[in-house]
Amino acid sequence: MPTLPTAQILDGASLARTLRERIREQAREVGERGAPPSLRVLLVGEDPASTTYVSSKTRAAEEAGCIAETIRLPEITAPARLLEEVEKANRDDPVDGVLVQLPLPPGHDARRVFDAIDPLKDVDGLHPENVGRLVQGRPRFVPCTAAGILALLDAYEIRIEGANAVVLGRSEIVGKPVAALLTSRSATVTVCHSKTKELPAACRRADILVVAIGKPGFVTRDFVREGAVVVDVGINRLETIEQAPEHLKLSPPLRDAIARRGRALVGDVDFEGVCRVASWITPVPGGVGPLTIAMLLQNTVDAARRRREGHMLGNQDRV
Ligand code: NAP
Repeated sequence: MPTLPTAQILDGASLARTLRERIREQAREVGERGAPPSLRVLLVGEDPASTTYVSSKTRAAEEAGCIAETIRLPEITAPARLLEEVEKANRDDPVDGVLVQLPLPPGHDARRVFDAIDPLKDVDGLHPENVGRLVQGRPRFVPCTAAGILALLDAYEIRIEGANAVVLGRSEIVGKPVAALLTSRSATVTVCHSKTKELPAACRRADILVVAIGKPGFVTRDFVREGAVVVDVGINRLETIEQAPEHLKLSPPLRDAIARRGRALVGDVDFEGVCRVASWITPVPGGVGPLTIAMLLQNTVDAARRRREGHMLGNQDRV
């Protein structure tokens, strides 16, 4: 039987290792001239996924030679109390980067939190000043996942200029910043969301399809033009095969992972189906996720460098 073509893998894990080595060197240079870069993470509640992400981020920061600390606040923390912690991190001079782990428990307004973070310590790039700078094409801190996606496309020399790019999902943290970055790199960008009509046809126009919706295996091969590059941002945890959508329930790798480990991580893309039509594809895990962490480290080192230079010049230059 002839073998079917299979997409090539955009290996985010391998690229992240290379980037983290470079960042470690940069962090060492910062440390030689004073304190090493320092990251403070604020975590509200005990959501297992958020707790795991925060541990991975702080561990990676320490491995890169940064100082990393987590302030854990209980699930019942009042919004005003969280804002006080943000203000405290803004004021604490040794802290270079502040990150509030998302999503926040119900009752918090994430936008008020973004507004409260010092834009010069905003390593997640979500303060409106940083978002505005990104949209104007003069970025300071780029949201980490979006920066990671562009780094991955560039590392594999995927042509962005002139490409038709479709971004599925319009969150502040992924969809919108990816669309802004692709636009500033001269792609023709369409942003799709839950109200988009004829979604598979809209996605089939993509040379580059970026998917960030949080729905396991939602994007099937019907959404993908032959030869497209597919970036799967989704991270969905399945603990039983019943939680999988119908078309994934018979997937041998998924059934095997759940049987062996009691859980599986799957993306928003039906990997097995889509890799038969795409030219390049990111795996989950091992695609975008490791780059998100690498870019957080890069933003932390950049924040430290910028703040040290600002202090030396006797100002807090808002560049
Ligand atoms: P989000 O804030 O929940 O936003 C989801 C977006 O998807 C919204 O714009 C929503 O449309 C759209 N959407 C939802 N269902 C849809 C449907 N059936 N058809 C079309 N559009 C639909 O999500 P997010 O924070 O961007 O996260 C998305 C996924 O990426 C999640 O799995 C998350 O865990 C993962 N993630 C991964 C990383 C990483 O490092 N790899 C980082 C961040 C997030 P509306 O706006 O119309 O509601």
